[in-house]
Amino acid sequence: MNLQELAAQVAAEFQKHYGREPRWIAAAPGRVNVIGEHTDYNDGFVLPMAIDRYAIMAADLASAPGKISLYDTHFKESAAIDVSGPVTKGAPKWSNYIRGVLAGFQNRGWKIPALDVAFTSTVPLGGGLSSSAALEVSTGTLMEAVTGKKIDPVEKALIAQKAENDFAGVPCGIMDQFISALGRENHLLLLDCRSRQTELVPMNDPAVSLLIINTNVKHELSGGEYAERRAQCEEAARLLGVKSLRDATAEILERGKNKLSEVVFRRARHVIGEIERTLHAAEGIKNSNWPTVGQFMYASHYSLRDDYEVSCRELDAVVEIAEGIGIKGGIFGCRMTGGGFGGCCVALVKTDAIDSITKRISADYKAKTGIEATIFSSRPAAGATVIKG
Ligand code: ADP
Ligand code: MG
Repeated sequence: MNLQELAAQVAAEFQKHYGREPRWIAAAPGRVNVIGEHTDYNDGFVLPMAIDRYAIMAADLASAPGKISLYDTHFKESAAIDVSGPVTKGAPKWSNYIRGVLAGFQNRGWKIPALDVAFTSTVPLGGGLSSSAALEVSTGTLMEAVTGKKIDPVEKALIAQKAENDFAGVPCGIMDQFISALGRENHLLLLDCRSRQTELVPMNDPAVSLLIINTNVKHELSGGEYAERRAQCEEAARLLGVKSLRDATAEILERGKNKLSEVVFRRARHVIGEIERTLHAAEGIKNSNWPTVGQFMYASHYSLRDDYEVSCRELDAVVEIAEGIGIKGGIFGCRMTGGGFGGCCVALVKTDAIDSITKRISADYKAKTGIEATIFSSRPAAGATVIKG
């Protein structure tokens, strides 16, 4: 379903639920990180892309003052948020992603009007494609539509990030909200997680797409894996005498090798290499040099698998299948994306081979693991937009 069809659907659901047409419709996309994994908390670069999947909200002013009524058209669930004073955390849990954004706008002096809202999302929930950021950023975009005021998209992204940190209790970085707010059709976003500077990287060739392969596994970990990786990165930076691994290079690492334990050395090698790969991949995309970009994606995967040790059997299986299909079969490169231990792979593919690749990965992944993968393709999609209003 494209965005216009989705808007028509949510408008019809609004009409059914509230008995009138919505006055405003706003949407924000999910995302996939094409390359640059576990670099964000090392002050490095990431290269995400908005996907053609959105959280979308339809709204009209409410007849009763002081509250926002929410209706989730997919889960058929309702909630109400008191906006007569400062918005607080509350039930149900999912409403906190929205509450946090409303509170962020209030903190900047915006008055939140009473609204009737119907919303839904085509971003798979909890699949690592950032349905949470999509929901937050669509809320912010709806606020702009409703009030007729504009906010800098970077400000909007920071409000959304703070909502996720403080209201949903997820200590995320800035990537998801930035790409959802700042994405542009036919572009990836090169984001410097240190300076927060962004650069839109054109990817205009319609013959090339991204394929997202959800392994549909999420391995339960003891919980300390991410904190342990972060601590190892900090230790590496300290021992190498740099502020963060962003400031290290392959030469600095080699020179300081004997100061680092074997494991910490490998963790640092991943981060330092991944930051470089991300910059090179951005160049490759600008030049439509797909085989080169694909090689960086494979290299990223091996590094995450061997040096950073955050892959798993199922993610590795997808990448092996992709390698088997190869450029001849239409795949330039493939890697795990997201934090790891399950979730999705992302592959750079020829658009006209999407159907055959999808069939082959589905069948081979099922044969290897006994699990059904969920697969869909996307071209770089637009960031948050007001569709009506
Ligand atoms: P991801 O962002 O990768 O999809 P998260 O765990 O960060 O995973 O966010 C998923 C959570 O976001 C859901 O459990 C739910 O609370 C909330 N959420 C996102 N979109 C919706 C929606 N359309 N309806 C209800 N809750 C949603
Ligand atoms: Mg999320």
